[in-house]
Amino acid sequence: MARLSRMSQVPGGAEFVEGWNIIQTLGEGAFGDVKLLISSDGETVAMKTVDLMKHPEAVDNVRKEICTHRMLVHPNVIKFLGQRKENFIQYIFLEYASGGELFDRIEPDVGMEPVQAQKYFLQLLSGVEYLHGHGVAHRDLKPENLLLDESDNLKISDFGMATIFRHKGQERTLEKRCGTLPYVAPEVLQKPYHAEPADVWSCGIILVAMLAGELPWDYPGVDCQEYLDWKESHKSLMNQRPWSKFDPIVFSLFRKILQPLPSRRYKICQIKEHPWMKKAKLRTLGGGSSESSQWPFLHSEASPPKRLMSEGDFAGSGSPMNGAMSRLASSQPDPAVVHTRSPVKLCKNQAPVFSFSQPAQPDDMILSTQMNATQMTCSQNGFQKLVKRMTRFFVSTDMAETLKRLDAAAEALAYRSKVSSPGIVRLSPSPSLIHVTLSTMDRRKMPLAFKATLMELEGQILVDLRLSRGDGLEFKRHFLSLKKQLADIVVKGLVTWPLAAATNTLP
Ligand code: ATP
Repeated sequence: MARLSRMSQVPGGAEFVEGWNIIQTLGEGAFGDVKLLISSDGETVAMKTVDLMKHPEAVDNVRKEICTHRMLVHPNVIKFLGQRKENFIQYIFLEYASGGELFDRIEPDVGMEPVQAQKYFLQLLSGVEYLHGHGVAHRDLKPENLLLDESDNLKISDFGMATIFRHKGQERTLEKRCGTLPYVAPEVLQKPYHAEPADVWSCGIILVAMLAGELPWDYPGVDCQEYLDWKESHKSLMNQRPWSKFDPIVFSLFRKILQPLPSRRYKICQIKEHPWMKKAKLRTLGGGSSESSQWPFLHSEASPPKRLMSEGDFAGSGSPMNGAMSRLASSQPDPAVVHTRSPVKLCKNQAPVFSFSQPAQPDDMILSTQMNATQMTCSQNGFQKLVKRMTRFFVSTDMAETLKRLDAAAEALAYRSKVSSPGIVRLSPSPSLIHVTLSTMDRRKMPLAFKATLMELEGQILVDLRLSRGDGLEFKRHFLSLKKQLADIVVKGLVTWPLAAATNTLP
């Protein structure tokens, strides 16, 4: 924190910028990507970048996202730390959620432990209740937009579709059809609609996803049979998936939340009083992270303004914080260049091991745990914040063989695949980093695309899969199918590797 507080004394913040590195890409969105920045003290920030020249259609959305998000401070909402617009590049700085996305915790067709789902659901309701209390509708609630911090607390993110529905006590109905079809409320497809019940409906679908690992319908329209069955309360429902998976008490809650008539739908306060939820509260699981800001130097950026921002508030290139962050971002080397500085030796057929053991599913979990000592002097707490992602595994084959096997697996699964790494040419004849874009149609006939990054770390190949486009649950399903295809070469055991080595390789 020393460096952070010094920044406030150094207008321009050049010194402060020097201590920050872009570590890796955390995710991709429709208009850009999100990268992880780490300071030499081990502090972390997620930086969302949008190229407004490439995506002029995003200008208004991004502006609205910033205006809305910066007002919000709650333990279950990703903190907005600041923003900067430089020429046509918009940077948004956010609290880093090191636990990944909620959908990563949902096992396809299985879901997760009800106790865990109850905890996340309670935290989701708490965040949404806060948003609604501040007149903000999220309008795109889904597991991909719910992130987890290092303490496994849920954080609502992505305010790209959020809007103000209540201002000075005056509520307006909304017209814009937005959201993600399986998660949207039926009235959103008809419009106008009230903001609060529409978000509550999405929370209900998220709960179905968490408890069943599947979604109940493609969209809530009368020409969708599954939705029609639900709406008309067909007797056979209890024999139909996903409903057949639930206890009567949970089912009764779904009846109240996924009530087609918004006026009769449960409000958040009623959901919290439902017997199934009361059980959750009694367990006193979870309960958000600290409300106090980790970022005193940014607090004025993040704290709720008295009014919504005007045009003049936007894109303050004069801000020392923004200048510092921006210079940091632009001074980084091409992240596609590979630096393998691993101090850990790997044995063939054995994943690299690190001493911080991780809970649950060690076979699938990555924890980037070690940093280059000369770069980082961070605490164990800093280590613990680092990347956890379940859609990765090491393989026992070399790069060429892995690529061949991936190609064969893609063919078996009828994916289109495209090798897309400029690094191959540069690193030829023995490439250390290869990207392969895989695309297909999911079960709902919706496009699904994900990127496989093959990287060599101390002689062992890591396969990292990341969703580029489409539904998170479907992606997870495809990840498991792909991993099954490669089962004979997947290395079992705790999968960890040093941060400095691994993260620089990710584009
Ligand atoms: P979309 O196309 O879904 O609207 P977007 O451009 O708004 O996406 P986000 O959804 O905000 O981008 O982020 C894309 C991905 O980046 C997320 O799904 C998540 O994996 C990762 N990500 C975003 N913000 C953070 C954060 N604060 N901490 C960690 N990872 C993040």
